Amino acid sequence: MLKYLREDIKKLKAYKVNKIDYQIKLDANEGIAWLNGYNRYPDDSCSELREKLAKNLGMKREEILMGNGSSELIELVMKAYLEAEELVISISPTFSMYKIFTIIHKGNYEEYPLKDMTSLDVEGFIEFVQSKKPKIVILSNPNNPTGTLIPKEDIIKIAQACDCMIVLDEAYVEFAEEETLEEVRQYKNLIVLRTFSKALGLAGIRLGYMIADAEIIDYINRVRSPYNVNSLTQATGLRALENEEELTGNVRLIKEERERVRTRLEEMGYIPLPSQGNFLFFKGEEGLYTALVEKKVLIRAYGGDLKGYYRLTIGTSEENDIALATMEEVRNETGKDK
Ligand code: PMP
Repeated sequence: MLKYLREDIKKLKAYKVNKIDYQIKLDANEGIAWLNGYNRYPDDSCSELREKLAKNLGMKREEILMGNGSSELIELVMKAYLEAEELVISISPTFSMYKIFTIIHKGNYEEYPLKDMTSLDVEGFIEFVQSKKPKIVILSNPNNPTGTLIPKEDIIKIAQACDCMIVLDEAYVEFAEEETLEEVRQYKNLIVLRTFSKALGLAGIRLGYMIADAEIIDYINRVRSPYNVNSLTQATGLRALENEEELTGNVRLIKEERERVRTRLEEMGYIPLPSQGNFLFFKGEEGLYTALVEKKVLIRAYGGDLKGYYRLTIGTSEENDIALATMEEVRNETGKDK
């Protein structure tokens, strides 16, 4: 959207990579081949991935941009839209990188607290945004680390009422009960981010994508590094899209496990928040993290305002069983109830 774009980016042209049929290719200072054709730079436009995703999503290729994880895409939005001292707003608690990226890009950052860490008072949030006049609102939906979901109708209210760019970070959307893409496509100030790191089980390849109006994609493309998604990642990403059925099975399994682990945690006296992600967030006893680390079981512990809170990723049923049994062991050893 031109309206919110950084002034200096409006004039910037994207680095152009020519795609011309060739007999001899000596135009890119590439080295001599020795392994699988990796001497060549990757397809800068990730055309096959974008084509396949566009087809799956019922979108146009021009409405999709691939990134080195969705992390890169969050940063690209800031690079294109955020001027120094401009404001980025999110909810709290949320994914800590929003603040870090904002500061790196010289912006200011503020958060609007969720009610009881679960629901968003949407009217209050809209008022907050309207009074603060941010350049970007970014929402993790479902939210990391709480696992809560802002319902469709509230996202639509936010998109209608807020005069700024809105980034919907849907990293965990496959684990949720609803998604909003269809409804929000009409809002030209809205960007949706998704990733191969969670439901598709490919955090190691670093691949994410942005879905937005073709004009937004065109501008954000101007601030992207050339060849940001490497050849191995593009090939593996395509394989994942060709094996989606198998991967859907994994999502079903994680969702079932999430509810099983929730019940077990509740039996142990914890109160995990209702989660629409592949993780559970709960308050626990001091020292839980360290005691688990000693037994080589890693969960995420929080500090600051969230001291005493923990986030447990849902793994395979075997992994979950070991984590739960170890938590019980710790409980018995320390003799604490909670
Ligand atoms: N958004 C959210 C809400 C996340 O939790 C994460 C990963 N923790 C990311 C984005 C980044 O994911 P990626 O691996 O695609 O960079």
